[in-house]
Amino acid sequence: MKEDCIFCKIISKSIPSTIVYEDDAVMAFNDINPQAPIHAIVIPKKHIERISDLRPEDSKLISKVISAGNKIAKEKKIADSGYRFIINCNKDAGQAVFHIHMHVIGGRQMGWPPG
Ligand code: AMP
Ligand code: ZN
Repeated sequence: MKEDCIFCKIISKSIPSTIVYEDDAVMAFNDINPQAPIHAIVIPKKHIERISDLRPEDSKLISKVISAGNKIAKEKKIADSGYRFIINCNKDAGQAVFHIHMHVIGGRQMGWPPG
């Protein structure tokens, strides 16, 4: 828990969110500024700032983040039509919140390459 981290505040429920998944290690909620019909954010409850800070002992945790994303995609019925997981790291990728998070985006045709 980091005092000035918006996602840690969502985990502690001191700021509201629409939770779509939660277990002991992971939480997911709807993005406040959705870029597609389905746009959820999946986070580990452990505060890690960026994907490049992951340590070998965090590998199980990140696997749980991915599993939660898959569950959400199934539940939101975009598993067959398709979905995208995105983890932005640092400035050029556009990372705005420095608590690792994975975007789960779907429900529309997406383009490639990303902007
Ligand atoms: P990134 O650019 O990868 O750091 O993405 C941060 C994401 O967090 C953006 O898509 C924001 O819309 C989203 N976001 C920021 N604050 C909140 C919030 N309070 N509740 C839900 N999503 C948020
Ligand atoms: Zn945090």
